[in-house]
Amino acid sequence: MLDRFLRKKRYLRNFYDKPHTMTTKQQYRVLFIIGGAMFLLGLIAASMVLIVMAAILMCATLITKIFPAVGNPPVTQEYVVPDTPVVNPDYLVYRGYQLEFSTEEFEKILTKHLPYFLILENQEQREKFIKRVRKFMQRKNFVIHDKGGFKEMPILISASAVQLSFGLKKYLLPIFSEIHIYPDEFINYHQSLRIVIGNVSNNRINISWKHFLNGFRLPDGVNVGLHEMAHAYHYQNFAALDDMDEHFMEGYKAFEERSRTALLYELSSLSSLYTLYGLSNEQEFWAESVEIFFEKTAELMALDKSLYYIISNTLNQGFF
Ligand SMILES: [Zn+2]
Repeated sequence: MLDRFLRKKRYLRNFYDKPHTMTTKQQYRVLFIIGGAMFLLGLIAASMVLIVMAAILMCATLITKIFPAVGNPPVTQEYVVPDTPVVNPDYLVYRGYQLEFSTEEFEKILTKHLPYFLILENQEQREKFIKRVRKFMQRKNFVIHDKGGFKEMPILISASAVQLSFGLKKYLLPIFSEIHIYPDEFINYHQSLRIVIGNVSNNRINISWKHFLNGFRLPDGVNVGLHEMAHAYHYQNFAALDDMDEHFMEGYKAFEERSRTALLYELSSLSSLYTLYGLSNEQEFWAESVEIFFEKTAELMALDKSLYYIISNTLNQGFF
């Protein structure tokens, strides 16, 4: 009995005294088990994330179905003429799909304010122009940062976009669902704080109404409506990469190429056709080129014929 007890004690002492080292095979096994466990945990976590995301998506779809106003307004529904626009303390909202103007109203306003409309070749072209303006307007929300709004606002601002793209197939600029109209200059909070008369940011086109109207009043090469629409059209095609116009994209490549030398040429020519801001980078050069193309066509032709034809080809329209 004692002997057995002593033997067991010796065995245990030997066991505990022995250094606990594992063989390489054992180490691999442990590593394999830990690795396997981590892989399984990762798999479970990833599945959970996917399940949560799918649930969020389902909820969002359901909400959009229950409350269609959350998504884009359907454009095929019956038009409702609002007695009063949606009123907020600081601004008014005109939903384009609720605005209804007769063809005569379009014609009257466009004839009065838009020189481009008057030089359209024939009635067929004018009808096409009005059709496009109407369609463009229906797809936008017009947010007016003032106490009152005019029916000229949605019509003429839509018309400035249609003028730019009249030679092209795509013209709806779907990425820009909101057009904000300010009575005068406004403060731009987007990249830096500064006073501007127009800009394009996120899904918004912002425009000062006073400057917009002045732009079409005088053919002086300054037109904030065309300027911002030029930025917006470029953004729609090259940044949003949605509803792109193949002809424009192809033509713009030549403009981009030409702008590298044209910028220097215009800077050195001292022609005063472009402003220094317009010559500060390619984007501003593009927007100002569009203004000049429409408003100072003859001067552009005299200064830089090939640039005129490149812009004309990019927009698929021209005056010569
Ligand atoms: Zn600009």
